[in-house]
Amino acid sequence: MITLQDCQARDTSDPLRGFRDHFTIPDGVIYLDGNSLGVMPKAAVARAAEVVTQEWGQGLIGSWNSAGWFNLPQRLGNQIAPLIGAGADEVVVTDTTSINLYKVLAAALSIAAQDSPQRRVVLSERSNFPTDLYIAEGLCRERGYTLQLVEPEDIGNSLTPEVAVLMLTHVNYRTGAMHDMGAVTATAQVAGALSIWDLAHSAGAVPVDLHAADADFSIGCGYKYLNGGPGAPAFVWAHPRHANRFWQPLSGWWGHAAPFAFTPDYQPTAGIQRYLCGTQPIVSLSLLECGLDVFSKALAVGGMAALRVKSLALTDLFMALVQQRCAGFELGVATPPAHAQRGSQVSLTRDRSADGQSSAFAIVQALIARGVIGDYRAGDGASHKDILRFGFTPLYIGFEDVWNAVEQLRQVLESGEWKEPRFNAKHAVT
Ligand SMILES: *Cc1c(COP(=O)(O)O)cnc(C)c1O
Repeated sequence: MITLQDCQARDTSDPLRGFRDHFTIPDGVIYLDGNSLGVMPKAAVARAAEVVTQEWGQGLIGSWNSAGWFNLPQRLGNQIAPLIGAGADEVVVTDTTSINLYKVLAAALSIAAQDSPQRRVVLSERSNFPTDLYIAEGLCRERGYTLQLVEPEDIGNSLTPEVAVLMLTHVNYRTGAMHDMGAVTATAQVAGALSIWDLAHSAGAVPVDLHAADADFSIGCGYKYLNGGPGAPAFVWAHPRHANRFWQPLSGWWGHAAPFAFTPDYQPTAGIQRYLCGTQPIVSLSLLECGLDVFSKALAVGGMAALRVKSLALTDLFMALVQQRCAGFELGVATPPAHAQRGSQVSLTRDRSADGQSSAFAIVQALIARGVIGDYRAGDGASHKDILRFGFTPLYIGFEDVWNAVEQLRQVLESGEWKEPRFNAKHAVT
């Protein structure tokens, strides 16, 4: 039996406990949605004021140099690099995840078209995040490729000589299931396919080593586990063997070898900087730096390995407490029990009723009303298993938070309050 006192004792001995003080967490809230929008670093308030009133307000155009605006995409890229196993000057922060995926997939298709033109398929997972599939669908239409979508267990068998690019998200947004990046990339390589990894639910959440896996391209999100703020710019990495091959398709002046020469023709600069397109969102980049600064501090005390130990302890605890305290309420678990197959979230499931009503949606709404913020994702396809999704960000979630979250869940289920109309207003799922 796990007790509240056990959880409190684990907080007391948690070497990462102090990191939550770097963030604003509203009173009365247990925030288990950092996998969707990370919390605000306290430093962001002063940084926002500084970049607006001083750097913009007073420094004006001179701030491109004097405040270091021009190099922000590279500087932040170098802060992200150690979190994902990339080298120095191999990552830039820019644009959105969707746009960066467009750029790297286009580059990968150009490389494949030159090296193995008979390969005409982009392979991905049916349950990949929709925007990744939409971007791939658009590019495949444009270039005459076929997008093939399979279940995760069929990826290996589907890596036929037709496949040009394997495009996967490392940690599944819905279930929290994590691929073995090294093994999958190796299989793709043997099959002659290039690999693109989306790290939206990995960067800052689980250790990643792109070089060890020998991946080809990668992208990821700034506003989830990296705490960059709503709509924060995303990052992009290309293996150095590919960085200088082909233009990325958004050949704007920020990726030009001599942007201030203002020549009428485009000449891509060397390396990952060619993946920049146009003038960068300086205010948003500046706020992301506040989130990354906390990770830079965490690197000094064990880094991603230490964060991973705590993340697994939090998700293990949540699953154990749900089993211990919420038995008999028809909850399932979609997240794999094996550590190596799990990201930093736990997805519980509940069957949708025969009339299409989703109890999972209503339970999540009732939890939010009690200050426990998770989110809901409709079950995919025919499964009828809707998902209650809870993200555990080791920088600012504690063990007592996990206890309290499960206690609120138990009360919601036991009281049946989730059946009240106010929690069911728009939950008919078709
Ligand atoms: C969150 C997420 C995105 C978000 O893309 P945007 O361009 O920022 O909207 C993309 N891919 C995956 C896998 C995600 O989880």
